[in-house]
Amino acid sequence: MVEIANLPFNGKKIYIQSMLNIPSEDIENNVKQAIELEKAGCEILRVAIPDKSALALIPAIKSAISIPLVADIHYDYKLALGAVEMGIDKIRINPGNIGDKDRVKAVAQSCNQKNIPIRIGVNKGSANKGLVESAAEHIKLLEENDFHNIVVSIKSSTVTETIKANREFRERCNYPLHIGITEAGTERMGIIKSAVGIGSLLVDGIGETIRVSLTGNPVKEIQAAKDILKAIGKYNGVQIISCPTCGRTKIDVETIANELEKAIEGKNLPPIKLAVMGCAVNGIGESKDADLGIAGGNKEAVIFRKGELLRKIPENRIIEEFLTEIDNFVAEMA
Ligand code: SF4
Repeated sequence: MVEIANLPFNGKKIYIQSMLNIPSEDIENNVKQAIELEKAGCEILRVAIPDKSALALIPAIKSAISIPLVADIHYDYKLALGAVEMGIDKIRINPGNIGDKDRVKAVAQSCNQKNIPIRIGVNKGSANKGLVESAAEHIKLLEENDFHNIVVSIKSSTVTETIKANREFRERCNYPLHIGITEAGTERMGIIKSAVGIGSLLVDGIGETIRVSLTGNPVKEIQAAKDILKAIGKYNGVQIISCPTCGRTKIDVETIANELEKAIEGKNLPPIKLAVMGCAVNGIGESKDADLGIAGGNKEAVIFRKGELLRKIPENRIIEEFLTEIDNFVAEMA
């Protein structure tokens, strides 16, 4: 079984990854961003190592975080050897791009000695043939050196192509897969593309780690990754369902749902289901199905707990009283 630092890739948990996007010469701000990402819920963090001086990032970042760190290296096998020396937890490098077989052997041996996995990352933009074929060639080069501690990623900026290639790869090979849509774009389309691509694969049972690639602050990648996992029931956090509102709505569902989401963010609550529904039509059923829920009436709402009607609340007290009920519910769960 492949393991990165203390994280086993055994199919029981899907790990959220992200990547630092600060210039590599700025150690201080890279460390700062690494801490922010860990705090946001990043579970595996990648850093680009474009040259020898960037190797200094590895001990600096590792001493500030407790999640595994991955070095992203292209072409230069000496950087891979240097990263291993510096205590890296995983290396992303494509063995087919680092030159002759002795170099591949040196990297494989060095990683084998310290039980460090290598991620082969095949992207549409850099693959010289079919994505799956290209991954298979890189894998072969490592296996020839008795190296099997391998994670693979096969990414394209096209959602359907990524899904197809990963499905095809999984039918041929069992190495753990890191999945995502590469160069997915800015926040709006990037999240949609990632949700469709990553979500489809995860529903198929494909993918041990995920990254939502967004142009912008990587903390947003973590939030989006958590939301994708929540949407398919693979994240142990709070799930909020809220209705889209319609002509029957007589309370401000949008504000209540948004404020609720904001209020519970960062509270580190156990996996509970909350419902904010505009009226009794679907509201009572959905609210009863949740751990706690409200169903709106005329400028008021009824609150349910595990299907049991607790009381009526005037609209201006809904958020306050709902939050109190959540705190009570969670305290009783403990
Ligand atoms: S729950 Fe009620 S208010 Fe909300 S969309 Fe459904 S019918 Fe409309």
